Amino acid sequence: MIRVHVDENRCVGAGHCVRAEARVFDQRDDDGIVVLLMSEAPDELRDALERAERLCPSQAIRIEVVA
Ligand code: SF4
Repeated sequence: MIRVHVDENRCVGAGHCVRAEARVFDQRDDDGIVVLLMSEAPDELRDALERAERLCPSQAIRIEVVA
C-alpha cells in the first residue's frame, strides 16, 4: 500500500500530479490547489505516484511505501 501526503501550502497548482494519476489527485476549481482523493493507494499505482512526486515542481507530494 502507498500512503500519499500532499502539502496544500506548497502546491502551486501546476497540475502535473493530476496528469500523472487522476484517481489519486484532483485540483480545486477556483485556484488549482491539489485535492487528495485517496490517501492510501494500492501498490499498482506506485509508478504513477512516484512520477507525480518527481514531477511536482514544489515538492508538495510525498509518498510512503507501507509494507
Ligand atoms: S504537481 Fe504539485 S504543485 Fe502541481 S498541482 Fe500537484 S501538488 Fe500542486
